[in-house]
This record gives sequence, C-alpha cells and structure tokens, in this order.
Amino acid sequence: MPQAEYDIVVSGGGVAGLAAACVFGSAGFSVLCVDPAPPITARDAEGSDLRTTAFLQPAQALLDRAGLWARLEPHAADLQVMRIVDAGGEVPEPRVMREFDASDISDRPFGWNLPNWLLRREMVAHLENLPSVTFRPGTGTTTLFTRESEARVGLSDGSRVRCRLVIAADGRNSPIREAAGVEVKTTRYGQKALAFAVTHPIPHENVSTEIHRSGGPFTLVPLPDHDGRPSSAIVWMEEGPEVARLAALPVAAFEAEMNTRSCHLFGPLTLASRRTVWPIISQVAERMSAERVALVAEAAHVVPPIGAQGLNMSLGDMRVLLELSEATPERLGDRAMLETYHRRRHLEVRARVTGIDLLNRASMMRAQPLRDARATALDAIYSMAPVRKTLMQMGLGARG
Ligand SMILES: Cc1cc2nc3c(=O)[nH]c(=O)nc-3n(C[C@H](O)[C@H](O)[C@H](O)COP(=O)(O)OP(=O)(O)OC[C@H]3O[C@@H](n4cnc5c(N)ncnc54)[C@H](O)[C@@H]3O)c2cc1C
Repeated sequence: MPQAEYDIVVSGGGVAGLAAACVFGSAGFSVLCVDPAPPITARDAEGSDLRTTAFLQPAQALLDRAGLWARLEPHAADLQVMRIVDAGGEVPEPRVMREFDASDISDRPFGWNLPNWLLRREMVAHLENLPSVTFRPGTGTTTLFTRESEARVGLSDGSRVRCRLVIAADGRNSPIREAAGVEVKTTRYGQKALAFAVTHPIPHENVSTEIHRSGGPFTLVPLPDHDGRPSSAIVWMEEGPEVARLAALPVAAFEAEMNTRSCHLFGPLTLASRRTVWPIISQVAERMSAERVALVAEAAHVVPPIGAQGLNMSLGDMRVLLELSEATPERLGDRAMLETYHRRRHLEVRARVTGIDLLNRASMMRAQPLRDARATALDAIYSMAPVRKTLMQMGLGARG
C-alpha cells in the first residue's frame, strides 16, 4: 500500500477534531482529518447533536484566526450575563439569585452560544475551502506506529499514512490514546444529562441561567429565536435512572416537570426538539502527549457540562499546540515540542477538572443542610467583588 505524507493527522471529526483541522489547515499545515462516523449537519436529522457550545472569549479569538468566526457569528447568541440560582429549599423556588455581568470585566460578552450540529455544518463547509486539508468522513484510524522521527497511522480502508504529528481528537475512549498507552483517571457520578431546546414567552435577554437544586444543575443557555419565539438550549443533569424516566415521559408530562425544575423563570417552557441523553463523567489523561501524539479535547479531558468549560478547554489545547507548532515548524511533533505542550496544558487541565468536579458535587447534593450551606457560599462569593471578578476571569480562561 502506498504511503501518503502529511504534517498532521487528526484522528476524530467531532467538533474538536473539525476545529483542529480548521485551525492547523488555515495556518498552512497539511492536514488529514478522519472519522468513521460522517458528521450529521441538520438539526432534526436522527442522531444530530443537540448540545450547544458556549464559546468563551479566548476560544472565539482562535476560531476567528482560523477564518471560522465570520461563518459562525450570524448564528450565535451572545452571553452577556451568567445567572446562578439556588433553588435548594424545601420547594423548588429561587432563594438565592446572583448575576455575573460580563460588563464588569470586559466590553464584550462572556461568550457566544451555537448548536453543535450547526458547528459541524459550518466547519465541514469551511474545510472545503482549505486546500491543505483533506477530510475523509467514513474512515477511521486503526493502528498507530511511532518512532522518534514520524508516526505511521493505519486507516480503516486498509491504507497507511505517515505524518509528523497525530492529534488525537477521537473522544473520551480515544483509540489513539489507547494505542499510545496513555492511561486515564475516570470519575463516575451515576449522573446523566438531558440536552434539548425549548421556546419560552419571556425573552432570555442574553442571560444564561444555572439553577441548582439536587441531582446536578439545570442550565438554560440563550439561542437565537426559533420559529419566531425566544429560545434556549437546556442541559438538565440528574441521577441516571431519573434521566431515563424523564426522557421516556410523554411530552406534556415532561414539560410539566421541566417547568417546575426551571422555577418558571422564563414562563412556561415548550419542548422544541428531541430529548438527547449524555452520560456524565470526569476524566483526565495522565499525560497530554506521547511519542508523535498530542491529545486534545475529550481524548485528554472530560468534564461535566458546567460553566461551558469542555470545548473551551479543548480550544485552549489547540491554541498552545498551534503556538508551539508555528514557533518552530521544523520541530513539529518532536519530543521537545510535545513535552512543552504537556507541561503547559496538564496543570491547568487538571485544575479545571478538579474545580468542575467540586462544583458538580455541590450541585448534586441532596441533604438539606448541605444545600443550605451551598446557598450561603454562593451569596458570600458574590458579595466579595474582587473574588467575583477573579472567578469570572478564570471561568473565561483569561486567568489560569
Ligand atoms: C450535555 C453536554 C453539554 C455540553 N455543553 C458544553 C458547552 O456549553 N460548552 C463547552 O465548551 N463544552 C460543552 N460540552 C462539552 C463538549 O460537548 C465536548 O467537549 C465536545 O463535544 C467533545 O468533543 P470531542 O470532539 O472531543 O469528542 P466527540 O464529540 O466524542 O468526538 C470524537 C470523534 O472521534 C471519532 N472517532 C472515534 N473513533 C475514531 C477513530 N478510530 N478514528 C477517527 N475518529 C474516531 C468519533 O466518531 C467522534 O466523531 C458539553 C457536553 C455535554 C455532555
């Protein structure tokens, strides 16, 4: 079998892998991106990804650099205010409600929210304009053989390619990570998330709302209007059996339960999409790299969807990797470069995974005294302006 040669092979064409192909392709590297599952690029198609991604400021800057932002911006909803609500009293009503306004730290929104299916559609379209990128949906990576000077990657069509760097963006069970022998530490919460879209009579006014009671947060993130009505994406986390029950309810009964859980903050919510179910774990790879391999996104770290960190951390990985690749392109994928990548990312990734793990555990709490302590802590943090501002900047990724 003849061997093709690329600077970079990206294993995985999920949102992270496609973003990596766009970022490195637009920087002039020759890239092959493969994924056995062709991307689903229509909202109502079976299997479409109805999660949304809130791109925070640093991530937006990278997408802009890759030439992607101009395509995405018309579809994005601004996130100007992050509202945190504690509804952990005897009855599901807001008892502490605090707002973090982006204008306290910046003249721009915190971020911009976009549906994942639409991200795939726009990223795939953008790749078609990048002559240095080859995207091969329907083909996966099957084997990895590395040596000091290069990697050889076997593909599911029987061919093999040579490259200087393999970017593993092939998800939480990353086959490339496994082939490279990198271990992971996984935390299971027995929790799942429902992700879906709703419409509501009261406009969201670009406020993202996280409501804590027990089982995990119930989060509403602004979307552009849907069928002429204000719309939000919802991520609703609960223990696994409760999510299975909610997912199977008839629509009217489900709407009644989500209205109670949403504390009626936007008026009655109407289900406006399928309900999709996602398992929730935390996971960190013990290293961000191996010989000729860089791990990014869920191949390296998985977090519960709190504070819009997941994909934003992934773009943080790519930002560092790109900076190192451009600083010394002749050393792309060599030991020194990947060691620097590991050092620059691992500490920050671990700190964020630990922080989000704690927030998730706090949100899951059932016992009333613990829920009361959580409400008091939220109040205390909010009332200290410097702490509040530091937390906002850390959330944005503007501070490590
Ligand atoms: C409910 C929910 C809400 C979320 N909300 C947010 C948010 O608001 N903001 C945010 O930043 N993050 C959010 N996240 C996290 C974000 O969705 C993930 O970080 C992101 O989608 C993961 O992308 P990924 O590309 O790493 O993994 P995946 O989407 O799992 O993609 C991996 C890809 O690799 C492919 N693959 C598998 N095997 C192979 C192979 N052998 N060869 C090649 N390819 C292969 C798969 O087919 C798949 O397409 C959320 C997560 C959840 C669960």
